[in-house]
Amino acid sequence: MATKPKKQKWQEIRDILLQMKEDTLREISKSLKNGADTTLIGEPSGDIYDQASSERDRELGLLLGDREREKVHAIDEALLRIDEDEYGICEECEEEIPLGRLKAMPFARHCVKCKSDLEKLQAQTKRFEEERAYREIPLGSEEEDA
Ligand SMILES: [Zn+2]
Repeated sequence: MATKPKKQKWQEIRDILLQMKEDTLREISKSLKNGADTTLIGEPSGDIYDQASSERDRELGLLLGDREREKVHAIDEALLRIDEDEYGICEECEEEIPLGRLKAMPFARHCVKCKSDLEKLQAQTKRFEEERAYREIPLGSEEEDA
């Protein structure tokens, strides 16, 4: 499967990601308790999720908390980036993300600096939106899904 050396490089991260995804999905299915989703439990490989992924995502999307759903999504994206040799590069400044950070947070898409810049920006945007809401300026029918 992994014939490219670059993918080899991320093998450890990949394992961490798959493990994380499994754990998260297990948490989810645990919280779904008596559902018919017991197939999730005890599956050692991540492959089964790929097959059922879109259907299951839809299902999970309805039931999950945003945090879990976002986490699974972030993990999927990270795995995809590994496949496409785009993993480990900051999306903002295109610097390599330090391996230590990737191990701690394997689905990180930004280096520490850009991440904190983005968070500042998000906090500002949020504050701005709150202020707008206070002033009762209609936001229209914006639906932000992304
Ligand atoms: Zn960066």
